[in-house]
Amino acid sequence: MSSHRIAVIGGDGIGPEVVEAGVKVLEALAATEPDLAFEFERFDWGSDYYRRNGRMMPQDGLAQIEGVDAIYFGSVGDPDLPDDITLWGLRLAICQGFDQYANVRPTRLLPGLTGPLRPELGQQIDWVIVRENSEGEYAGVGGRAHRGLPIEVGMDVAVFTRAGIERIAQFACELAISRPRKLLTVVTKSNAQRHGMVFWDEVVREVVRDYPGLTVDWMLVDAMTQRMVNKPGSIDTVLATNLHADILSDLAAALGGSLGIGSTANINPSRSRPPMFEPIHGSAFDITGKGVANPLGAFWTASLMLDHLGEQAAARRLMAAIETVTDRGEYLSPDLGGSARTAEVTAAVIAALSGVNSTSSSRLAG
Ligand code: NAD
Ligand code: MN
Repeated sequence: MSSHRIAVIGGDGIGPEVVEAGVKVLEALAATEPDLAFEFERFDWGSDYYRRNGRMMPQDGLAQIEGVDAIYFGSVGDPDLPDDITLWGLRLAICQGFDQYANVRPTRLLPGLTGPLRPELGQQIDWVIVRENSEGEYAGVGGRAHRGLPIEVGMDVAVFTRAGIERIAQFACELAISRPRKLLTVVTKSNAQRHGMVFWDEVVREVVRDYPGLTVDWMLVDAMTQRMVNKPGSIDTVLATNLHADILSDLAAALGGSLGIGSTANINPSRSRPPMFEPIHGSAFDITGKGVANPLGAFWTASLMLDHLGEQAAARRLMAAIETVTDRGEYLSPDLGGSARTAEVTAAVIAALSGVNSTSSSRLAG
């Protein structure tokens, strides 16, 4: 029996709501799989912790969670605190501290969902976006000077290193070649950003040479947005910088039906530090505490976590339960056009795990 140690950090806003729903689903899964077990350890880090302690997590926070098998994370962001404080104090502190340089975001239009595209286009969406997660535009390098003066200045410097580009390009190539279409689209903006982005192109071009079985095409990021909307079937695996992939993956989630469904794995491929799994959405102040947050993004995220932990069968079972619920369409949250509450979606997925839901409903329908 393998017991996986999971650090649970709900964070802010709807983060704790969807992550606790996810823990319930994982516990239900473990209860029916003889060889699957979890030890969940909760950490109350985030904006309330900040109000009490003046920091988003303890000084030795990373050391406290360094030994876990995975981190299951909700979101950060508080209406009363600056976003850069909350993001850098917790989420980016973990991603960068554990050198989780590969951020992986799958998108598919789940069965039963329509999304904003015409059905024949929406059904073609089957993408994985690989986001460089350690440097680029979010390296945190830059500065402010001459505060309050007319000559005041603020700068963020986009940092691209050979080592950083090589390792994320290798990761994206390995992932792309493991998928049936063996197709990688590299996103760039080297027409306008003529230093870092040109260097990005050069290094990625060197790396892809080692993968002769891979088809590689290149897109400028602005044109990529229209390709995602107009020709979704022409895309499979996508490699993009930290900023570009951040934006493209919210677009991808919306095209897949809702920001509430998108899932993320933050991985250090060397496995020397724990990975972190999170829905892609933020803390969603407008619906916090109302009990209507869509937990499917957190569930899909849990499936990615299971897969990474070597629990492929459980990962597939969870994904199948999610798809059963979307396909039946009876328990969808408001962002997907339904009226189900977080707890009802959660109960529906748990029921679908054991097949109870589908059996009883088909009897009812019959
Ligand atoms: P957001 O993702 O929180 O919300 C955008 C919109 O999508 C809102 O209308 C929200 O209600 C809706 N939405 C998001 N998740 C949903 C879900 N699960 N179910 C139903 N609807 C959902 O983005 P935002 O409004 O730009 O940011 C709010 C805060 O979250 C900010 O402080 C921001 O910095 C933070 N944020 C954090 C993360 C993270 O922790 N990874 C990511 C994005 C934003
Ligand atoms: Mn984002």
